[in-house]
Amino acid sequence: AAKARQCGSLIYHPQLDAGSQESLSLLSELRRAVENDELRLYLQPKIDLHRGRVVGAEALVRWEHPVRGLVPPMQFIPFAEQTGFIRLLSAWMLSGAARFSQQAREAGLDLRLSVNLSTRDLMDQELPAKIEALLSPLQVPAESLCLEITESTIMDDPERALSTLEHLHAMGLKLSIDDFGTGYSSLAYLKRLPVDELKIDRSFIMAMERDLDDARIVRSTIELAHNLGLTVVAEGLETLKAWAVLARLGCDEGQGYFVSKPMPQEQFIAWARAWQPP
Ligand code: C2E
Ligand code: CA
Ligand code: CA
Ligand code: CA
Repeated sequence: AAKARQCGSLIYHPQLDAGSQESLSLLSELRRAVENDELRLYLQPKIDLHRGRVVGAEALVRWEHPVRGLVPPMQFIPFAEQTGFIRLLSAWMLSGAARFSQQAREAGLDLRLSVNLSTRDLMDQELPAKIEALLSPLQVPAESLCLEITESTIMDDPERALSTLEHLHAMGLKLSIDDFGTGYSSLAYLKRLPVDELKIDRSFIMAMERDLDDARIVRSTIELAHNLGLTVVAEGLETLKAWAVLARLGCDEGQGYFVSKPMPQEQFIAWARAWQPP
């Protein structure tokens, strides 16, 4: 029972504030996770929908808990954001993604690695310098790293976020708007931010085959993005039919279970070599 309670505390509850007993234990568990090497970097491929080639991968964190097994990110990311732990996690992910990109280059694969950032990361004025330091010993060009941000990432302090993003973009990093279509003021941000890529939220992609409105939203979003000179990525690509529809609509890239679920980074290069487009 004591074990169950301890495990239960790992689940994030929005009503838990950073000062409560339970969240303090979650925070120490997270610190221990880093020390004990329990975090894993998983990769999910991104495919060029017209040529069928693997063009990149999104880095997604997993927590291999000794008792609970794989803990999904949604059970600790919000908490990590709330406590500031996310900065450590993001730095760990960025460094892992950059090192993987180098490894892939050495294996003859040119891949763009995407990493998710949170509000706290963009409030950190040291972030560009940290990324610079991380890339300099590697032979990885800045363009092979892409930072995924959501509108809520920017909303807290848009001015400060914008200045960090402009700095990162000037360094050559690619910027992507994640979960597009689910926020409040997407269009205003698209206009102001130095973005290169737009990811259509998976809820639209997964519904477009049965709901005409979703199909229309997807079509218009692709057109809008292209008019702004952005690459469009469809998330939640689960069927061959969806691939065909998206390719016909001119969507550039896709990511989803139809191609592959996220896999441990150690498996990715072999997977990419064996990949055959349908
Ligand atoms: P996200 O950035 O939207 O990541 C995509 C999520 O969609 C991943 O869930 C992925 O496994 C899932 N997914 C991919 N293809 C499909 C599909 O075809 N169908 C369906 N139904 N789902 C699909 P995951 O890995 O559980 O991550 C959930 C969220 O946690 C991510 O959403 C992201 O917001 C956050 N997250 C994950 N890793 C990190 C990280 O390292 N840093 C930060 N800040 N957030 C992270
Ligand atoms: Ca993402
Ligand atoms: Ca997303
Ligand atoms: Ca409808």
